[in-house]
Amino acid sequence: MSKVLIRNASEETVRKVVDEIFDLYKVNVKGKRVFIKPNMLGAYTPDKGVTTNPALVKAIVQACEAQTDKIIVGDNPMRALGVGGMDRTAELSGIREAAGKYYRNIGQEADKVDIGSKLVDGVPISRVLKEIDFFINVAKFKTHILAGITGCVKNLFGLMPGSVKAEMHFRLQHPKALTQLFVDIYRYRIPDLNIVDALLGMEGDGPSHGRVKKIGKILAGTNGVEVDTVMAAMMGYDPVTKVKTLDIANKEGLGEIDLDKIEIIGDFEKIPDFELPIGYIAPREAPQVLSLEESYDNWHKIGTIRPMNIEEKCTMCGECEDICPAGAISLDPYPVVAEDKCISCFCCAEGCPEGAMVVPENAHLYERFFSG
Ligand code: SF4
Ligand code: SF4
Repeated sequence: MSKVLIRNASEETVRKVVDEIFDLYKVNVKGKRVFIKPNMLGAYTPDKGVTTNPALVKAIVQACEAQTDKIIVGDNPMRALGVGGMDRTAELSGIREAAGKYYRNIGQEADKVDIGSKLVDGVPISRVLKEIDFFINVAKFKTHILAGITGCVKNLFGLMPGSVKAEMHFRLQHPKALTQLFVDIYRYRIPDLNIVDALLGMEGDGPSHGRVKKIGKILAGTNGVEVDTVMAAMMGYDPVTKVKTLDIANKEGLGEIDLDKIEIIGDFEKIPDFELPIGYIAPREAPQVLSLEESYDNWHKIGTIRPMNIEEKCTMCGECEDICPAGAISLDPYPVVAEDKCISCFCCAEGCPEGAMVVPENAHLYERFFSG
């Protein structure tokens, strides 16, 4: 039985928690080449709850530094250029400063590799993975519109350069296929240690524009599926098989998803009133959590939900037009979504720096979702 640690933490105490994690999991990276992969989804400041808190990144770097100087810190943001651009993301998130001399733009070199996926041949993966001995996955406690949660398994989608991620959304489209791909990438290089930043989490329609939620905790474990299971249960997924990545990963033998079979060190509690993403709930007046299977069965209806532009927030920057893998957005002068092209991937909502592309929440669209 593997252990998942839950500890209260703040930016001030996070180093102490990281030391405890290194002790508990007997992290020995003496002389080894270590890769620390935070969640650097886009150019957001730490208070937005989107990217891994730099205080945690710094604490992990310092803990590793006590044993080795061969450290690399990096991630692939949503886009290699523009708003999600690598350097701007690293700077705004505070991760470049936290990583110091160990920061690397890992998006510049990638190789097509066989990850053993039945869905896609030859997936571009950042070359850094070939250079390392020890992999520390530093995920974020967030919801995700399509996948239910971000967390440890989904965090490895960032091993692909940004533009490839959008391409995969377009090629696979259906969330069932996408979640299988997340598991395929996780299986290709299972992290040696997983640490989840839940200092500030995100509820609702994450991973970029949900609601920031102060949680004040750090989670950790050597099995990312099991850490994600604990995280999903804290969010209120019951059973956690509603999160397809966990269901698939468990069936593939990658981790336990029965909470009774996971040893939890620390205080586990379901977070009161934690809001799940829109694709996982029925209309607010009659809350009902859907299983992912039900969501998939209804995909042709979910697929009719198109992003909506909020003109008051929109700066007409054109990022969403560039991001959209289906070429469904044009600016006139605000973004207009071509219904017949849109694949409801919500990359535009994820990538808009202003939170001006949103998943609509009005009853009319809910009706389209759940009826007929
Ligand atoms: S919706 Fe967002 S990304 Fe698109 S043009 Fe407006 S501000 Fe830019
Ligand atoms: S308009 Fe948005 S949701 Fe639709 S395909 Fe483009 S990026 Fe995806």
